[in-house]
Amino acid sequence: MSNSAGAFDALMAHQRQTFALGQVAGRLGWDQETMMPRGAADQRSDEMAAMESVLHARRTDPRVGEWLAAIDEGALDAVGRAQLRHIRRGFDRARKLPADLAEELARVTSRAQGQWAEARAAEDVPAFLPVLARIVDLKRQEAAALAAGGDPYDALLDDYEPGAKATDLEAMFTALRDPLVDLRAACLAQPMPRGLEGRFDEAAQMELTQLLARTFGYDFSIGRLDKAVHPFSSGSGRDVRITTRTNAHDPFNCFYSTIHEVGHACYEQGIDATYLMTPLGQGVSMGVHESQSRIYENQIGRSRAFTGWLYARMRDAFGDFGIADEDGFYAAVNRLQNGFIRTEADEVQYNLHVMLRFDLELALISGDLAVGDLEAAWNDRFKADFGFVVDKPSNGCLQDVHWSVGLFGYFPTYSLGNVYAGCLHQAMRAALPDLDAQLAQGNTAGATGWLRESVQRHGGLFTPRDVIAQAAGMEPSEAPLLAYLQDKFGRLYSI
Ligand code: ZN
Repeated sequence: MSNSAGAFDALMAHQRQTFALGQVAGRLGWDQETMMPRGAADQRSDEMAAMESVLHARRTDPRVGEWLAAIDEGALDAVGRAQLRHIRRGFDRARKLPADLAEELARVTSRAQGQWAEARAAEDVPAFLPVLARIVDLKRQEAAALAAGGDPYDALLDDYEPGAKATDLEAMFTALRDPLVDLRAACLAQPMPRGLEGRFDEAAQMELTQLLARTFGYDFSIGRLDKAVHPFSSGSGRDVRITTRTNAHDPFNCFYSTIHEVGHACYEQGIDATYLMTPLGQGVSMGVHESQSRIYENQIGRSRAFTGWLYARMRDAFGDFGIADEDGFYAAVNRLQNGFIRTEADEVQYNLHVMLRFDLELALISGDLAVGDLEAAWNDRFKADFGFVVDKPSNGCLQDVHWSVGLFGYFPTYSLGNVYAGCLHQAMRAALPDLDAQLAQGNTAGATGWLRESVQRHGGLFTPRDVIAQAAGMEPSEAPLLAYLQDKFGRLYSI
């Protein structure tokens, strides 16, 4: 065996173990959200910091640099070269980040999640501000270390969306903003469709949501569905878990957050099995991940055809809930209303919520906005974009967990995912002319099979933009998403 082949094998063996330990750390995070006793929070933050310290040591192990130097890249196939691209990128990033900073970030953000939850429950912004100020300070240090003279925000963004730049995202948001504001105003000026009436048994919601997960192809033999305060998906390969929540008055919250997380989970479950436990064995970016969750949730799950099938299932499970027919149900699923909460926003308003966070976190990381001024800045911007006043912090700057766990540069990937989903949906419709007939029968296999074949199976083989461009047959653009939204909501609201 050549030196190069030996170095490649040794490097991949090291990667597999690091990947496995990363999965263990992720499962601690899952446990924290689902099963962990409240009193264990401090101990858990020490456990997470210890895992982070082990992981950081492995990621920066000098032998990784030696193996990389010894490998003859020209002798590798496309898969091997893609593995090296991920490994080299991860190694460079990890080495730029001082070990004590990585550990301190893990410790502070693990504890901050509980502190945020308490401040949110108490509507107490001042209680959370010192915590957030510490996190912003640490993230600015991280950004400076990673950017090495480049743009600090781009350095953070790169962790979630390799290759993306804030200036490109600003252009995307600019293109989306006015048309979405106009569409929102036009819809809200029309009579509001009827909503659901009554109480919806929560055990029956869990039963139906399990059926939905299976209907969209989620494999329960390598996954599980539990309740948590916030729906999420975690893990990869042969252990991909999702969570959901129930609300007796709003079953759509449970059903559509489940379908969303199933989209994330199916991406992970759909990756080529030969990539498992390697850098190619997980979703390539948060934007591509979100394209899968959003297309499952919206373009498929909230389509007229699929909601017709869901209406019958809901009538079976809950009896009469005040909606007379499938068209009324479709309107109820997709109705616009004024609201404060990003995760509850409809397809038209969702990206306006994301833009607000993107601009504020850019300003926090650049130092243009002080943490002490965040609440006022949030409330001013919300009033300007949505036309009404934030009534309490849990409806404003305390509503999202992201900043408390150090996720800066993450929010824009939600909108990028919507834009990618728009491109994929256009191509999927062209490839599957009888898609609506399938969805009306509750058969998503055509749609999910197309997504698995075009996007999911590749894992990390291609760059995020390339995997979308190849699947969609076009360079990613916000135009298909806008056209889809204007057509769908134009019809629904007779605009
Ligand atoms: Zn998501």
